[in-house]
Amino acid sequence: MPLEEYAAKRRFGNTPEPPPGTTSGKTSNYFCVQRHDATRLHYDFRLEIDGVLKSWAVPKGPTLDPGIKHFAAQVEDHPFEYGSFEGNIPAGNYGAGSVMLWDRGTFDLLGGTPGAEQIARGDLKFRLHGEKLKGEFALVQMKGRGKGNEWLILKKRDEFAVPGWDVEAHAYSVLSGRTQEEIARNLPARASKRKTAGAADRVWESSKPARRAAKSATATAAPPAAKAKKKLTSTSRKLKAPAKRPSRTQSSR
Ligand code: MN
Repeated sequence: MPLEEYAAKRRFGNTPEPPPGTTSGKTSNYFCVQRHDATRLHYDFRLEIDGVLKSWAVPKGPTLDPGIKHFAAQVEDHPFEYGSFEGNIPAGNYGAGSVMLWDRGTFDLLGGTPGAEQIARGDLKFRLHGEKLKGEFALVQMKGRGKGNEWLILKKRDEFAVPGWDVEAHAYSVLSGRTQEEIARNLPARASKRKTAGAADRVWESSKPARRAAKSATATAAPPAAKAKKKLTSTSRKLKAPAKRPSRTQSSR
């Protein structure tokens, strides 16, 4: 049963995350990405395949830059209902921290074989129709090393590829328009949300995104773990800066 691990890790009386539901059998080819400010900030990339959300944790997030391959750890399948979840997982629970619905849409499988078969082969190709992520991508398993859950996610070169694209310049919810900090504080949804890829996060000073984009475009050689740690530090600082009071994000980890 694919959702047993998901259920075993969570106590549904203590977390707002959805319990596994009954799958309809229909597929809507849904995909989503959640920005998850847990012990380490990461992005959870999810594709609906065979009634569940096949999931990868991507420390550096997905990118539209075709010159960069980002590490993606395959994690337990999530129920389809998880794909619309945004909110806070309380301290003491698995994955405690704020969850932002960062992108969502549909995808087309490429390659002419079923998704499960492509995953088993370690080479999954698809085209995304998201609000932020568009065009062709691939998830490629790094075989013969580690625990076997190590993959890379990469953007193919097409009309949606954007060299130098910086995921952190798009840190707002496609569901509520909120920033990570606004979600962590349970602030209400914004009246209007940004829908255009390329818009900078509104909590940032205008000079910052360009500088970060330039930096991420050149700094691609470091191992994923070290880079993830670096990014968490800089993002936490960024989230706390405009608040001018202690962030609850920190204490809820
Ligand atoms: Mn996560």
